[in-house]
Amino acid sequence: MRGLSSEEAQRLLRQHGPNALPEKPPEPLWRRFLRQFQSPLIYILLFALLVDLFLWLAEGARGVPLEAWSILAILLLNAGLGTFQEKRSEEALKRLKALAEPMVYVLRDGRFLRLPSRELVPGDVVRLEAGDRVPADGLLLEARGVLVDESVLTGESVPVEKGEGEEVHAGTLLVRGRALMKVTRTGVRSAMGRIALLLSEMEEEKTPLERRLEAFGSRVARYVLLLALLLVLLGFLAEGFSAKVLLFAVALAVAAVPEGLPAILTLALSLGVERMARRKAVVRRLSAVEALGSVTVIATDKTGTLTENRMEVEKVVGPDPERALLAMVLCNDADPTTGAGDPLELGLLRYAAQQGLDVEGLRKSHPRLSERPFDSAWKYMRVTTPKGSFLKGAPEVLIPRLSASEAEKEAFLKEAEAHAAQGYRVLAFAFGEGEAEENLRFLGFALLLDPPRPEVPEAMRRILKAGVRVVMVTGDHPATALAVARRIGLPVEVLATGEDLEDLSDEELVEVDVFARVRPEHKLRIVEALQKAGEVVAMTGDGVNDAPALKRADVGVAMGQRGSDVSREVADLVLLDDNFATIVAAIEEGRSIYENIQKFLRFLFSTNLSEVLVVALGMVFAALLGLRDAAGHLLLPLTAVQILWINLVTDGLPALALALDRNPGVLDRPPRPKESPLLDGPSLRFILLTGTVKAGIALALLALLPGWVGVEAARSAAFHFMAVGQLFFAYAARHTHLMPLPNPYLHGAVALGVLAQVGLGAWVPGVLEAVPLPWPVWSLVLGAALGAWGLAEAVDRIVWRKEVRR
Ligand code: ADP
Ligand code: MG
Repeated sequence: MRGLSSEEAQRLLRQHGPNALPEKPPEPLWRRFLRQFQSPLIYILLFALLVDLFLWLAEGARGVPLEAWSILAILLLNAGLGTFQEKRSEEALKRLKALAEPMVYVLRDGRFLRLPSRELVPGDVVRLEAGDRVPADGLLLEARGVLVDESVLTGESVPVEKGEGEEVHAGTLLVRGRALMKVTRTGVRSAMGRIALLLSEMEEEKTPLERRLEAFGSRVARYVLLLALLLVLLGFLAEGFSAKVLLFAVALAVAAVPEGLPAILTLALSLGVERMARRKAVVRRLSAVEALGSVTVIATDKTGTLTENRMEVEKVVGPDPERALLAMVLCNDADPTTGAGDPLELGLLRYAAQQGLDVEGLRKSHPRLSERPFDSAWKYMRVTTPKGSFLKGAPEVLIPRLSASEAEKEAFLKEAEAHAAQGYRVLAFAFGEGEAEENLRFLGFALLLDPPRPEVPEAMRRILKAGVRVVMVTGDHPATALAVARRIGLPVEVLATGEDLEDLSDEELVEVDVFARVRPEHKLRIVEALQKAGEVVAMTGDGVNDAPALKRADVGVAMGQRGSDVSREVADLVLLDDNFATIVAAIEEGRSIYENIQKFLRFLFSTNLSEVLVVALGMVFAALLGLRDAAGHLLLPLTAVQILWINLVTDGLPALALALDRNPGVLDRPPRPKESPLLDGPSLRFILLTGTVKAGIALALLALLPGWVGVEAARSAAFHFMAVGQLFFAYAARHTHLMPLPNPYLHGAVALGVLAQVGLGAWVPGVLEAVPLPWPVWSLVLGAALGAWGLAEAVDRIVWRKEVRR
């Protein structure tokens, strides 16, 4: 069999199109842009715009309606930024999807190649193994113990057996066996394609964090609305009906709502996800990022994740090494020419070839009559040829099936144990007449060495230091598992085997450090017991049967290289390099993202609190002190436009820069409790402290300056102080409980903000409703901003140091 030639495949690909569903066309830019206006906050601003225009008309439409223009400009800017960020995050997610694209082994020009499944064309011959999703509709050319789960198409959850010549459908799942399939229909013409076209698109799910923030935001909005109404009533009582009072209410509402937050949150998540992808950890759901940050236990496979899965045979020992070699070749599904197959089986073939065996020739002269495919549930495999049955598998399952005395069996088991204790993975070989799986003859053991991955000991040290427990879950022999644990620095106090596990209570089970000889269904029990004990569990898995445990885990981790399609589909995280160290990297990034989110929450809410205080208290003071603006209205301490400017322009960039902070210390602390509030005690204290310090100084400027430079200039000074002061506070906001690396983006953002503020204020009179200020007042403003920063930082450091000492 040669499969298609590559030219033929190219031609067919052009003719039939890719084996994928048509993507829905991207939303046009203008629609995206308009969608940005769909938020209650924007409605408030639009309302402010209308009030402004109305006032301007009522006053005779003289001059330029500056405030209205400014609001418009800020609205457009906000929508533009929103559109840009949305598009950017979407593209990042799309690139991630491409990284985790399904691959298939397909026969082209006589060789099996690993190609993206979208390149399949009708006529291709595809190799399928247990755990693979059928990539297109096709006919089985060869089927060995094939069991197909067709529930996606039929809803029937009991898998059906399929033999040669039978049809399999795209999207169904090979749960057992091995097959060659000839593709008949691809893409939309396949069964899955037809069904998928009927189904509507899935809704994008919001992450728990986004939902919590939204809930928080709407609570804030309700309080603000109440407060604004109250103040409007008071205003009307004091002033009589006036549009200015309405404007004030608008300003207050604008002050209280953190406009930039949703966009920055999405951006922080998507940037973090990209950073993870660069470290070979691909997140499949944004919400997994948060869960990653709070993982307390990693339950990991051994083979391939902690070890290299290189599987070199060191030697073969036993009564009949010659037959054992034959069993290695015949009881084996791997394909030595293409490297397709289980690394263990490939290792066996390499060894047999080194010993001078002709793999292809032997397989031709010993055709398979029947077989039992390998499955982790029974841990062995049988292939029957005209010359009898060859079996290979775990020693504890094959040795009891020998026709030998109990004493002999005991001796064999002891021997296997001794090899395993040296760190070998021990595989037993046996022979039986006919299709026998009992009364077997023992052939020998193959001793394989699977060294730990070089990065693992260091990753283990770091993650243990980070307060995360690591539990090894393996199908391998307890002694092999212990030997590996010792070499990678995994502390082991309690070891349990799959059999022990059934007698353990949940409380005892969570104490176990190494689970050996487990079957896949045990993994689910382990995850559930750990979760019941309050742990946040990351669980790795590669096989078909691991899917339930991966789904159940808080972070299901699948393998990008050796994992089955199903395990990848249900996973939250896919390791492109199958490496344990990559889980550690992902947890580090997850924590770092959460940390940065905390920082800009602290920063933005500190601004908002100070603005609310200035507007609300300032208004009361203005009434008490009788401060009035040029037109004789009661002085509005900050106008809506000024507040918007502070929130969007000066705050926006530093908050973005905070999302880029690098936090090398995140793995030096224990994990964050799962149910911990968004803003913890120290952060709330920070917001209260910095918010009142800033508001206090701004109010002092408003109270003291009018006598010196006049009311309008005093108000401008307060505005400049709020903007510049806020910029400096970005530095204070970063000091959560750890010290991030210097962040050049933040320096840039703050410098740019200060320049924009001073430049605009000093050289462009009238803009942002500020009047030109004399230099001494400018110095006072800048000095006050620096002073406020210093004060807040000093107090916060003391608080911070106390936290650290504890
Ligand atoms: P793990 O890969 O963590 O060891 P598995 O469930 O895949 O767990 O394998 C369980 C045991 O079954 C292995 O320790 C080995 O003894 C045996 N085994 C693994 N792969 C094969 C195979 N392809 N054929 C026969 N026996 C196997
Ligand atoms: Mg395995």
